Amino acid sequence: MFGFLKKVGDYTRDAVGAANYLTQGLAVTFDHLRRRPITVQYPYEKLIPSERYRGRIHYEFDKCIACEVCVRVCPINLPVVDWVMNKATKKKELRNYSIDFGVCIFCGNCVEYCPTNCLSMTEEYELAAFDRHSLNFDNIALGRLPTSVTSDPAVVPLRELVYLPKGVLDPHDVPDTAPRVGKLPEQVLESLPSGDAS
Ligand code: SF4
Ligand code: SF4
Repeated sequence: MFGFLKKVGDYTRDAVGAANYLTQGLAVTFDHLRRRPITVQYPYEKLIPSERYRGRIHYEFDKCIACEVCVRVCPINLPVVDWVMNKATKKKELRNYSIDFGVCIFCGNCVEYCPTNCLSMTEEYELAAFDRHSLNFDNIALGRLPTSVTSDPAVVPLRELVYLPKGVLDPHDVPDTAPRVGKLPEQVLESLPSGDAS
């Protein structure tokens, strides 16, 4: 008898849980039913990438010490560090540096572990090319800074969808003066207790 009652209890709990999940799913569906499509007229309009967007990597040749840490931490050993040993000075001489963005998975490990901070991730995401070999950037191409969406006079920047104020669904409706939703990375760091920010 006790076993039967336990089974009934379990069944009832599962049924209530399933009904709960079903209701939540339908709530999302009905919420979307009242929304109209939003079209971003790319390339005349572009969404502003988030501050921590992991786009094309920027590289500073003068700061690189050819330590190859970036190669060791890369899951696919991708960066190519071309250096020779100067026997007179007994120091490495950097010749070239390249990253193939046709292969890179933009994980950011190389940026995170570079001891001299000569690598950084930019907001550049427009890497389409007819020939994938043209995505193998040397140190000259890697040293180029991308044009920011907000400073490009040919583009209308739109606030990224996750940063829209509460209740606003279309980025075209947001005035420039409207407060942004969410904290900037530096504001997040400031809000952390000292010691957690490192
Ligand atoms: S980790 Fe940084 S300093 Fe070392 S080789 Fe790579 S880019 Fe250069
Ligand atoms: S972002 Fe990741 S995959 Fe790309 S070069 Fe750096 S470590 Fe390698």
